[in-house]
Amino acid sequence: MMKKLYVAIALLFLLNISSPAQQVKEPKAFSEEWSKPYPPFRIVGNLYYVGTYDLACYLITTQQGHILINTGLANSESQIESNVKKLGFRFSDIKILLTTQAHFDHVGAMASIKKKTQAKMMVDEKDASTLKDGGRSDYFFGGDASAFEPIEPDRLLKDREIISLGDMQLTLLHHPGHTKGSCSFLFIVKDDQKSYQVLIVNMPSIIVDGKLSEVTKYPEMSSDYAYTLKAMKGISFDVWLASHTSQFNMHLKHKSGDGYNPKVFIDRKGYDQALAELQKDYHSKK
Ligand SMILES: [Zn+2]
Repeated sequence: MMKKLYVAIALLFLLNISSPAQQVKEPKAFSEEWSKPYPPFRIVGNLYYVGTYDLACYLITTQQGHILINTGLANSESQIESNVKKLGFRFSDIKILLTTQAHFDHVGAMASIKKKTQAKMMVDEKDASTLKDGGRSDYFFGGDASAFEPIEPDRLLKDREIISLGDMQLTLLHHPGHTKGSCSFLFIVKDDQKSYQVLIVNMPSIIVDGKLSEVTKYPEMSSDYAYTLKAMKGISFDVWLASHTSQFNMHLKHKSGDGYNPKVFIDRKGYDQALAELQKDYHSKK
């Protein structure tokens, strides 16, 4: 009995010191709303909300399989999977995985979902190295331990590159600053009434407290934010959504149990106001 215990302890110790790179230490969630469950719903056309209360995850369905954008925290996987099922779709039909940014609150469950679904993971090329090292090279959350399980992307994407599945075509918009490869997705969906231009945007929020020029691990940060803030002002769309529900006030627009009503997400004014706020924050830190 004792001997078995010693062997087990020795084995654990060995595993621990022999592979520090494999250690995942997920940072503490900023808000308890990040893990709170939320019922899935149809946003517009073949676009569905499948995320947690605040960590937005989107499912785009097609006849040839589905696209999942963002995966929340490591423990969000079961929520996302049950949300997809509740909507009547199969988790195993997810063929493409995307993310708006390589931070632990959006790619926490990515490696595990990739393994489970065998889907192809595609990422903005500038976030590829951070994805591969589990965020250890990130300017903010980086360090000795990975913030999320490392992910090996299948395809690297450049600005304006098209992601196709079935009859869907998504255009990637490179929106760096929050991470080196933060990005947004622009695409058209239809319902039986009309078609909508949808923008799933990674808002250029700033998580560093001091001046951007002091972030030595990301020297282009300030010019990247300036580029992104300018580029975002020029985008045309009908519906906008973001990486966190709080960023586009989802819970003011949609209450759980509400019926299908894409009109509530048509909100250019809210988008422009949110960008103006971020522009101010950028101005004080640049
Ligand atoms: Zn982030």
